[in-house]
Amino acid sequence: MRIAILSRNKHLYSTRRLIEAGEARGHEMHVLDPLRCYMNINAKEPEIHVRGKILPEFDAVIPRIGASITFYGTAVLRQFEMMGTYPLNESVAISRSRDKLRSLQLLSRKGIGLPVTGFASKPTDIPDLIDMVGGAPLVIKLLEGTQGIGVVLAETRKAAESVIEAFMGLNAHFMVQEYIKEAGGADLRCFVIGDKVIAAMKRQAKPGEFRSNLHRGGSATLVKLSPAERATAVKAAKTMGLNVAGVDILRSNHGPLVMEVNSSPGLEGIETATEKDVASQIITFIEKTAKQNRTRTKGR
Ligand code: ADP
Ligand code: GLU
Repeated sequence: MRIAILSRNKHLYSTRRLIEAGEARGHEMHVLDPLRCYMNINAKEPEIHVRGKILPEFDAVIPRIGASITFYGTAVLRQFEMMGTYPLNESVAISRSRDKLRSLQLLSRKGIGLPVTGFASKPTDIPDLIDMVGGAPLVIKLLEGTQGIGVVLAETRKAAESVIEAFMGLNAHFMVQEYIKEAGGADLRCFVIGDKVIAAMKRQAKPGEFRSNLHRGGSATLVKLSPAERATAVKAAKTMGLNVAGVDILRSNHGPLVMEVNSSPGLEGIETATEKDVASQIITFIEKTAKQNRTRTKGR
């Protein structure tokens, strides 16, 4: 097959691994920087141009679209979909997953366990908002944040009020969440492909920190999931409409709680911690599921 990887940089670990795995299985792998792709939307036949040339047809496209280029990246992916190229994850599912509140609303509708979460826009609603999530300590998250930046643990009600007021004053979008203390500064990253968790790691925050992000100094180890955790991760990915997803789960004393569903989960941490060849499993999934002109949404 001819497979495109939409990625800003071919030297990134995940991109390199996907190229390697694809070539090892006899595929023609091309890395395309989504920001270098441009298109004529009115053309009779949808096409994509790069540096003055029309791209050839691809059988499948693997989107690796960073949060900062979601808007343009998903537009490019949609163009591939309209050309009938099979997308590993569809543009609509990626856009959906990038809106954290919308994601939690969809997950909650399916009865998936979530930390109690609230959001509000008026300072007068702050006291009630804090009560709604069970009072302090609580977690406040900027909706635009990634890699743990913009996630704050407010130990006291006073601290929570000040931080929320500050975020409101800056017109920042945020949510307020019950603090799952018993998670002990750890979370689970479940790597879902299709209807299976194919690898999972536990990320533990460094001492004195509650955020387990590897970028915040957390460390990752192989973990065995419970059947409930597996089922939750798979259901969360399915709810978001993602074939491939990184589902982040907190272990609470009332079962697994989903924090987030990532549509471009990184391969480095999970392959290192689990010693599994995740990249090859992605390629074999594409071999099994990619069919030309069978994109369900065609970008709608
Ligand atoms: P980001 O998307 O920026 O990584 P997260 O929502 O995943 O932000 O939060 C970062 C980390 O903070 C999580 O990996 C987890 O370890 C910790 N954390 C987040 N929310 C909670 C919570 N409600 N209770 C306990 N720990 C949390
Ligand atoms: N690569 C990041 C991760 O797996 C997040 C990517 C995204 O925003 O979907 O944690």
